[in-house]
Amino acid sequence: MSVHSDDVERVPPEDVHRPRPDDPAEPYEMIVVGSVNADLVVRVDRRPRPGETVIGSDLVIYPGGKGANQAVAAARLGARVALLGRVGSDGNGDFLRKALDGDGVDLSRLTETPGPTGVALITVGADGDNSIIVSPGVNALLSEDDIAAAADLLASARVVSLQLESPLATVAAAARTAARVVFNLSPPAVVPDDLLAACDPLVVNEHEAALLLGEHGTPRQQATALLALGPRSVVLTLGADGAVVAEPGGVTTVPSPAVDVVDTTGAGDAFTGALAWRLARGDDLAGATAFAVRVGAASVRNPGAQNSYPHLEDLETL
Ligand code: ADP
Repeated sequence: MSVHSDDVERVPPEDVHRPRPDDPAEPYEMIVVGSVNADLVVRVDRRPRPGETVIGSDLVIYPGGKGANQAVAAARLGARVALLGRVGSDGNGDFLRKALDGDGVDLSRLTETPGPTGVALITVGADGDNSIIVSPGVNALLSEDDIAAAADLLASARVVSLQLESPLATVAAAARTAARVVFNLSPPAVVPDDLLAACDPLVVNEHEAALLLGEHGTPRQQATALLALGPRSVVLTLGADGAVVAEPGGVTTVPSPAVDVVDTTGAGDAFTGALAWRLARGDDLAGATAFAVRVGAASVRNPGAQNSYPHLEDLETL
């Protein structure tokens, strides 16, 4: 099936056009450097084993990509946020650009590039948990030159938010340019020491922490071990159990509100986008994390990634 055929349901975010705070004299609160993907989602009762075929639901295409997700999470909460990234010259690129624009993300640094837009193939199981394969498309072309061209902009933003669905050298260059770096080390990879040292905080989930540390222990022990790897601070997210913050001054546990889980896709991105925005607004790390767990929890109550992200008023129901 072609992903561009007209019989596939593409679900844009709800049509909320908000006035955007785009005074060009003001620096951005936050710039996200990262990926923009079309999320191709099929729900299944159970996932196929190797060599097996299972029948799933109808295909639905949602706007996604870790970079775009973080930017939308922040924009919906009221952030003045720009996204530095690439979309392809195809139907998915148009769809994603419109979705981001509708959410008030500044797209002046989003470049249309010949080639395929990034795609994520996502299966959502009966438990609401997801499995994902990413085909990067033109996200792979986001370059160090793109970072150099935006150096002044990146240096003037209060926070630059990064993830790893873009080339590592590009992410490292962005980190060198930024005043403050929030880095979600996802998908997990070995990264250079100077990139780790710039993180304030490094954000990882339990799977990523286990891969990075190659050891187990309590979440508080893991967060402390991650801090010893060199970042200025660490936030370890724990799904329904919230998050743990590790800073040189100590470790703080932040519980999450209990919610009915529908789909956890993009919860970590919602969390990180909200965290970065609250840090840009001047919260301390524990305070920003307490806010971000509520945003993450709100996001798992609805299907999709960006489509499930709350506006500020939605947090009142938690
Ligand atoms: P990722 O989405 O990267 O795998 P987590 O699963 O740790 O990361 O989720 C990130 C955040 O999203 C959590 O810290 C929490 O705030 C929220 N969250 C995720 N799953 C749930 C859940 N089942 N119930 C409540 N909140 C959740």
